Amino acid sequence: MVDTVLDRFLRYVVIDTQSDVTSPTQPSTAKQIDLSRVLLAELKALGLDATLDGSGYVYATIPSNTAKAVPTICFCAHVDTAPDFSGTGVKPQIVRNYDGGDIVLPGDKSRVIRPADYPVLKTQIGNDIVTSDGTTLLGADDKAGVAEIMSAAQHLLAHPEIKHGPISILFTPDEEIGRGVDKVDLQRVGAQFAYTMDGSTAGEIQDETFSADGVGIDITGVAIHPGFAIGKMENAIKIVGEIIAKLPRTISPEATEGRDGFIHPVGVTGTMEGAKLQLIVRDFTEGGLADKEALLEGIVRDVLKSWPGSGYVFKVTEQYRNMKIVLDCNPEIVDYAMEAVRRAGMAPALTSIRGGTDGSRLSFMGLPTANIFAGGHAFHSPLEFVSVQDMQRAVDTIVHLAAIWEERA
Ligand SMILES: [Zn+2]
Repeated sequence: MVDTVLDRFLRYVVIDTQSDVTSPTQPSTAKQIDLSRVLLAELKALGLDATLDGSGYVYATIPSNTAKAVPTICFCAHVDTAPDFSGTGVKPQIVRNYDGGDIVLPGDKSRVIRPADYPVLKTQIGNDIVTSDGTTLLGADDKAGVAEIMSAAQHLLAHPEIKHGPISILFTPDEEIGRGVDKVDLQRVGAQFAYTMDGSTAGEIQDETFSADGVGIDITGVAIHPGFAIGKMENAIKIVGEIIAKLPRTISPEATEGRDGFIHPVGVTGTMEGAKLQLIVRDFTEGGLADKEALLEGIVRDVLKSWPGSGYVFKVTEQYRNMKIVLDCNPEIVDYAMEAVRRAGMAPALTSIRGGTDGSRLSFMGLPTANIFAGGHAFHSPLEFVSVQDMQRAVDTIVHLAAIWEERA
């Protein structure tokens, strides 16, 4: 009997794989390996050469079945779920032939998935929608991606008439805590190009992430006994407070969307003598980052004019860069993905991610990586849902993509 993508998905989501940012180990939680072991066994059962290493990475390769020289393409998904909401005891529910109404989650009837909140539901009428029971997240992020890659592998192996080059499969731990590619062995992956199956809405391809810097501002004040402070004290805590108050409200996470970046304070510590303000700066372009950092330093200089005895150190640290810089050097990565989405019966949409992904890090580690939809919505929450039909479209997209790389080689 052939496993459907739904069979696989239901098998994977009941395995608790929540990662833990406070853990120093890799993988951060041993339970992630429970799923990795299942995947290893299933890949081997498909007849593939697969390994699970000590850091929790699963690697496998589908050999080429064509005489052509085709670049090795990697498909990647992460096994962990977000620490934001419980992933223990997931009880998946299937709403068959969805009618367009509210979906009340049976384990907690106060939790309702409403088309008013998730307009994408209007595109799902007649589909079969999988949710949790409302007491946990579902884990479609990214077990939908895992199930889709596994189903596509099974399909390619069962259909040797579909010609393709070498396909590398990679399942990573700890993506949700930003360590998904910390210990990845790119030699073992052996690919020239890659796709993460970790996006949301069907048809979407993402080739852009934020570029990201961290900024540390150290303020040195003038400390003195408060009883004798007149005309002398310069309290570093107050100086930092003035800087924060002058940050433009319009360039904040809470006031921006789409392609607009922001300046965002994330930490402050201090005494009268010295205070430290930490911020993150985000933009889609290097120029936009530089402008925001110049604006920020201008605010600091301006505030310090009225504190002549105090000083500051302004330090910018690069965090990650927009993967589009890398992907634009190999436009076929995105072009072929767009064509695969079309062949799978959808209108492709190229969008950007207001954050970073493992793909952005892989791109700068030498493996150019775009992100493809996996079909899930309301990630990291008990309202998370995915339709079986969108997961199948993602499977079809992977299969078409493998064939397109062979055709064009
Ligand atoms: Zn994800």
